[in-house]
Amino acid sequence: MSFRASARDLAFALRAAGFDAVRARHPDLDADTAEAVLDGAARFATEVLAPLNRVGDTQGARFRDGQVRAPEGFTQAYRAFAAGGWTALSADPEHGGQGLPKALEIAVSEMFQAGNMAFALCPMLTLGAAEALARHGSERQRRLVLPRLVDGSWTGTMQLTEPQAGSDLANLRTRAEPAPDGSYRLTGEKIFITWGDHDLAENIVHLVLARTPDAPPGVRGVSLFLTTKYAVRDGGGLGEANAVGPASIEHKLGIHGSPTCVMQLEGARAELVGELNHGLAHMFVMMNAARLHVGIQGAAIGERAFQQALAFAQERRQGRSVWSGDYPARIYDHPDVRRTLMLMKAKVEAARGLCLMTAVQSDLARLGDCAASRAAALSRQELLTPIAKSWSTDVGVEVASMGLQVHGGMGFIEETGAAQHYRDARIAPIYEGTNGIQALDLIGRKLGHAGEAMNELCADMLASAARMAAQRDLAPIAARVADGARALLDATRVMVWREWPEAQVLATPYLKLAGDVIGGWALARQAELAAGAEAPWLKTRIALAAFYAGQVLPQAVAAADVIAAAVPDLEAVRADTLSP
Ligand SMILES: Cc1cc2nc3c(=O)[nH]c(=O)nc-3n(C[C@H](O)[C@H](O)[C@H](O)COP(=O)(O)OP(=O)(O)OC[C@H]3O[C@@H](n4cnc5c(N)ncnc54)[C@H](O)[C@@H]3O)c2cc1C
Repeated sequence: MSFRASARDLAFALRAAGFDAVRARHPDLDADTAEAVLDGAARFATEVLAPLNRVGDTQGARFRDGQVRAPEGFTQAYRAFAAGGWTALSADPEHGGQGLPKALEIAVSEMFQAGNMAFALCPMLTLGAAEALARHGSERQRRLVLPRLVDGSWTGTMQLTEPQAGSDLANLRTRAEPAPDGSYRLTGEKIFITWGDHDLAENIVHLVLARTPDAPPGVRGVSLFLTTKYAVRDGGGLGEANAVGPASIEHKLGIHGSPTCVMQLEGARAELVGELNHGLAHMFVMMNAARLHVGIQGAAIGERAFQQALAFAQERRQGRSVWSGDYPARIYDHPDVRRTLMLMKAKVEAARGLCLMTAVQSDLARLGDCAASRAAALSRQELLTPIAKSWSTDVGVEVASMGLQVHGGMGFIEETGAAQHYRDARIAPIYEGTNGIQALDLIGRKLGHAGEAMNELCADMLASAARMAAQRDLAPIAARVADGARALLDATRVMVWREWPEAQVLATPYLKLAGDVIGGWALARQAELAAGAEAPWLKTRIALAAFYAGQVLPQAVAAADVIAAAVPDLEAVRADTLSP
């Protein structure tokens, strides 16, 4: 089934997420311009990227003679992508970007990821590399490299992972030897490097974490380096090939079109980015940007799986409908199938809303009127980022799985494409910091000393529920959102006083509770915006919010008991007593 990116849905979700406050701070960005950007992206995602999704899956990236080749059609699509200015939306105009808000970029990214997640990973990482250089790069790096990333003529990678250093980057071993001319030589092996090599663009910029010989142990001794596939001459032209390249690519469950490379660094000429031994902090700029983009991948793949399931459910006929009496009925007319489809769409909108809310806060953290409002927005953005990444990517997998179920046996057969969405979705909870690590980040660093960051968010949800309670159509939704916010408040109170090992046992259930509740709030805000409208698609926003409030939020409230209950003594469970 062909996918159609919906600029209309995203424009609406953006408004519900508070985008008007961001637009008000961008004098050149009126509503029509923002819609034109979304429309253009929707066309590109639908007409150029989506038709290549299957090609990418079946053909995959190929590794031959030490070089990676992208699947057929990807190179032309990439050139059109760069020529269309899609690489540069939120980058600073000083570096050739368009200076548009992050929230708009994330909305656009959703459409590209839904169109073709394997393809969209390449510009997504390029964007992160550009942000890291804009913030921490030297004058030379910002003059010679950054504009090439922004205009898409070069692409970027993020090279952290090594065989012995995945979640734990303290174990990194890649060495950076200082050279007499002030540059460095990188030696080591990086694994799982997305788009580490390819033929889409003329050069590749690698941001690599490594340690100098006298660096202190652990993460305090990690520095960030820039190395390129081809040397960059002082005039900006390309020089000889550098000693960094792919040794192989992985054969993997999904995103076959995206090459996942083992990279060998054999004395690669490199430059330091930012300060020595501050590499992890500098890389966090890139990782935080990427986390939100990965979060929106969850909504993206969910939307695509939903559209496909909805179309299938209207074609496939089985049994008699208890509603219409039709025989054979469209499976769409069976209550259980329709419930599944409603749940899919509601969860997609909730994940989308949560990610867009996070992006709006990141814009307000830069553009807020005063220091206090910028600090409040930053704190909210930091709180929401691990939830947006984890909860939304879990939703992506769940929704893709439901989509497969709607197809029955045909879902399990590759021909329909439903299986590809399920396989593609599965990586998102793993990369960019596994969802388990995100949950630890949430409870360990983001809640605030006594949970005040989350308490303030709950207070906002309660205030918004109180406002909605006055409207008849919205009152039942408001009541459930208020129940959810109170449950999250109670759970937060318990979490902040738990001993650290106990808190870790509960981190993932707590993050899920937060995502379930905030997702419900995101839908309620859509319902509030749609209230009183006559258009059927807007009335459906209220139905979706009510459905989620009735079906998902009560389960979230019940699940909050897990946080308050006695924590299972997992330390006492010996692995040998679990094994057969
Ligand atoms: C397709 C793909 C693309 C990727 N792209 C890139 C890329 O472009 N650049 C890059 O640098 N990396 C990339 N990665 C690597 C990815 O970020 C890592 O796989 C991820 O960070 C997890 O590391 P790991 O695989 O070593 O798992 P581990 O760290 O070994 O984790 C295994 C399990 O243990 C859990 N765990 C580990 N430590 C803890 C802890 N302290 N507390 C609780 N639980 C813990 C994890 O949550 C996980 O469930 C990619 C990976 C894949 C598969």
